[in-house]
Amino acid sequence: MVHQYRPNFPHRFNADSSYDSICTLCCSTVAAARIEAQLYQHEHCHKCNPDARTSRISLRIQLTPVLHLWAQLEAIASWVARMRFLWSIKRLLALTFAVFATGLSFPQTARDADVQQLLGLEQVWNQAHENGDADALDKLWADDLEVDVPRMAVMSKADALNFARSGHMKFLHYVTSDLRVRVYGDTAVVSGRLQRTRSMNGKEISDDWRFTKVCVKQAQKWRVVSFHASEAAQSPGS
Ligand SMILES: [Zn+2]
Repeated sequence: MVHQYRPNFPHRFNADSSYDSICTLCCSTVAAARIEAQLYQHEHCHKCNPDARTSRISLRIQLTPVLHLWAQLEAIASWVARMRFLWSIKRLLALTFAVFATGLSFPQTARDADVQQLLGLEQVWNQAHENGDADALDKLWADDLEVDVPRMAVMSKADALNFARSGHMKFLHYVTSDLRVRVYGDTAVVSGRLQRTRSMNGKEISDDWRFTKVCVKQAQKWRVVSFHASEAAQSPGS
């Protein structure tokens, strides 16, 4: 008994809205058309060759390991590309962080530390005057110090130290305020108001000055190289 197989043609609807007609005996695509009704005339003319199906399937079986290998290579390539991308992002982030850390933050904190040191030295300076501590002033003053204040001749460091050690003048009150510190590398300018009361020859005299100190960092320590003062402008009525 001979079985006569007749092909059957299921239709496949594609993503691009076209239709394919597939032969169930030889597994080939019989026709492709925009309109499904156009498939029938091709199906009618189809010369079926079921042997072709076997050769296509065997070709697919032979190709399977190659396709698997290809898919794995694609996966590896994609992973490598992703890793390289992540690595470059990581390097970019590290570089950005380094630039911020060294380029911006560090000088900012170093500058802040200088400002704090200079403000601290203001207290050392004031206390040394109130205590008549010439040794403390000796450490604070640079060797080439110049002092230029009202009603006094310009003094060198030696002049100013001799005057301080003479005990000729005693400070009852020596206070600075309205301080402003500006740092330019190893040089700094400290300015503000100085109010002091001194006792000299049994008389008490008060001064109200505006001052400017120029400081230089020498061997990691700030020292005053110039101290200049002038009478503060008095507001009307004071
Ligand atoms: Zn066929």
